[in-house]
Amino acid sequence: MTRILMLGPPGSGKGTQASALRRRQGILHIASGDLLRAHVADDTELGRRAKPFMDRGDLVPDELILDMMSDRLSQPDAQRGYILDGFPRTLAQAETLDRRLQELGQRLHAAIYLQVPEAELLRRLSGRRTCPSCNAIYHLDTMPSAKEGICDLCGSALIQREDERPDVVRNRLEVYAHQTEPLLHYYRDCGLLYEIDGTIGVDRVLARIADIVEQRAAAPSPEEQRT
Ligand code: AMP
Repeated sequence: MTRILMLGPPGSGKGTQASALRRRQGILHIASGDLLRAHVADDTELGRRAKPFMDRGDLVPDELILDMMSDRLSQPDAQRGYILDGFPRTLAQAETLDRRLQELGQRLHAAIYLQVPEAELLRRLSGRRTCPSCNAIYHLDTMPSAKEGICDLCGSALIQREDERPDVVRNRLEVYAHQTEPLLHYYRDCGLLYEIDGTIGVDRVLARIADIVEQRAAAPSPEEQRT
């Protein structure tokens, strides 16, 4: 049983690592951005309200995100653990997640922070390609699909996301610095923060995360220690 969350700016590799963990260890990957994009694609009420924020690279308001995530975390498959990718992104979201976990009698094992310099983030985001069907992520230089433009997992044609245009990318990085970076202190204070250099290569980052997950999942929770 593993419950971890991935922190780090857009382009730091959160989605790549979470997809790799899903592929290799079968851990459920819950990406708030993917859930929102599915709402946009299905043209739901939530999707229609969220889309303008997403197109600008701004955060979608907390009240829209919180119901969606609370719903997702209550589903049966999520009771066996997950990797959260892209949520929480504000202090209010982090505090709500904590309350929700407490209600469910669950705990987080680790918050993994992937550190990557800004120039590298810009390079990565501009080469990124995404599968619109299964949300797998590729990169033209560092993680190309076996067949150019085609998803290895499901065979769909890969796309470049609207919000990966350079002006939107710059805004997303600023929004991250103002609204999401404070979460690093929050999770450090909770004793859950693990920092990893996100430039050491996909496989080495993955191995570091796997070590942390193993070590933390084996540690007894405060409740277990008391019994
Ligand atoms: P991502 O794929 O995680 O980069 O998310 C794409 C977009 O979805 C972001 O730029 C935000 O507009 C929105 N989004 C995703 N997750 C959240 C969240 N936890 N809080 C607010 N907005 C979010």
